[in-house]
Amino acid sequence: MLSLPARSDRISFMNPARVTVLKEGAQTTGPVLYWMSRDQRVADNWALSYAQSLALSAGSPLFVVFCLSPNFLGAAARQYEFMLAGLAQLESRLRRLNIAFKVLAGNPAEEIVRFAKRIKPGAIVSDFDPLRIKMEWRFEAAARLKIPFLEVDAHNIIPCRAVSGKLEYGAYTIRPKIKKRIGDFLDDLPPAVKKHPGEYPGEKNPPDWRRLLKSLGAAPSIPAVKEIVPGEKAARAALSSFLDQGLSKYDEARNDPNEDAQSGLSPYLHFGQISAQRVAVETVRRGDAAAAAAFLEELIVRRELADNFCLYNPFYDSPRGFPAWARETLNDHLKDAREYIYTTEEFEGARTHDELWNAAQAGMVAAGRMHGYMRMYWGKKILEWSETPEQAMRTAIYLNDKYELDGRDPNGYAGIAWCVGGVHDRPWPERKVFGKIRFMNWKGCASKFDVEKYIAGLTPGRARGG
Ligand SMILES: Cc1cc2nc3c(=O)[nH]c(=O)nc-3n(C[C@H](O)[C@H](O)[C@H](O)COP(=O)(O)OP(=O)(O)OC[C@H]3O[C@@H](n4cnc5c(N)ncnc54)[C@H](O)[C@@H]3O)c2cc1C
Repeated sequence: MLSLPARSDRISFMNPARVTVLKEGAQTTGPVLYWMSRDQRVADNWALSYAQSLALSAGSPLFVVFCLSPNFLGAAARQYEFMLAGLAQLESRLRRLNIAFKVLAGNPAEEIVRFAKRIKPGAIVSDFDPLRIKMEWRFEAAARLKIPFLEVDAHNIIPCRAVSGKLEYGAYTIRPKIKKRIGDFLDDLPPAVKKHPGEYPGEKNPPDWRRLLKSLGAAPSIPAVKEIVPGEKAARAALSSFLDQGLSKYDEARNDPNEDAQSGLSPYLHFGQISAQRVAVETVRRGDAAAAAAFLEELIVRRELADNFCLYNPFYDSPRGFPAWARETLNDHLKDAREYIYTTEEFEGARTHDELWNAAQAGMVAAGRMHGYMRMYWGKKILEWSETPEQAMRTAIYLNDKYELDGRDPNGYAGIAWCVGGVHDRPWPERKVFGKIRFMNWKGCASKFDVEKYIAGLTPGRARGG
């Protein structure tokens, strides 16, 4: 059973509900080690600020460690390049703050234990991530180490373990819990990381980022996304630009893929290059409550609901994780004749009969992103044109995690489970193949936006209306 620290004057600046003790113990005077994983930033990072406070109180150096895991959940060179470019900026920022940054590669639990044996830390701090494999790494490392191990939720505005202790049914059940607690968490941002005293504890030269990228052996055939600049500075610029130009039209136009009304922040949020809390605070500061409401619903309620889904549902990426009514109805319609059935290769190559679907898929392959509304259509059609819901889940997750810059995220697993398995949704009128799962079609899209314009924009050589 996990516990929260009963009281600690060392975290006077932070709500103690952000911290979960994975291993009890008394901190010694060794260096403090922050195992950074999901929150790859210096600014507004609760885990880093907390780790520094522990190091300062013990008069110890501070190490930030990142462990690269080859072929992490199917990530390609595209995602690794974006992440490593952000980490390179982070390393030089930390170096100026006299904080060492060490990159390890291999099985993270083993590498962290090995590194800890070498530098003999007085305490370990990690950030929070509800994905199964990340939880397993943290729990394994904590079990093997004999020092205090503290997990800090630096990703969610209301810490995931604190907002709810169980799997939520949908936005309507988590929203009141978030509303009740948001006042305790939203306003306080972590204190800025200070220049750390003492001698620089790290290596003389920065890591060889190129060599590290090569060593990961990630599929180089999927090119980097040049239009989205990685790093904390670029993330803040993207936020400013959205607040200046996008926020006021977000409510009205966010479901139109031809409009530039979404924030485009998901890659930065995914890699933790910006804090969701910072995004929320700056949005609220704009003072336009009506414009902010729709955006904060997605940024806070939907995003934190996805973390809740992955934390409390061990089957978040398979039909076993669907609600009972959805499993039953999909089962009832398992034998329904499908008008079209495509293989994974046909989906991947955007070779379906549907130009709208193909355009969305081709756009994702080329640019590493797909508009939020089209992601729903895209996922629904994969269910409709697959032999089984199980196959549909596999295909959607494979493509999403391989091509989306923000893939391998709880939002992705929850979004795909919503499309295929009615997760966070309710039963709808029954129909072929879908049963009571919500259905989407071309006509519905055409009633919301100019479908031809969207297809023409993403299909090389396709003139509008052609
Ligand atoms: C099939 C499918 C796959 C998806 N895959 C991913 C994925 O891999 N990674 C990912 O981050 N999101 C995913 N989403 C959720 C959502 O579509 C994206 O977060 C959003 O489109 C990202 O664009 P944005 O940052 O401009 O969003 P904005 O509309 O500007 O929203 C701001 C932020 O709120 C959060 N958010 C918005 N919509 C949702 C949502 N429906 N669920 C949870 N959080 C949300 C995101 O963190 C987003 O960056 C998926 C949705 C579906 C239906």
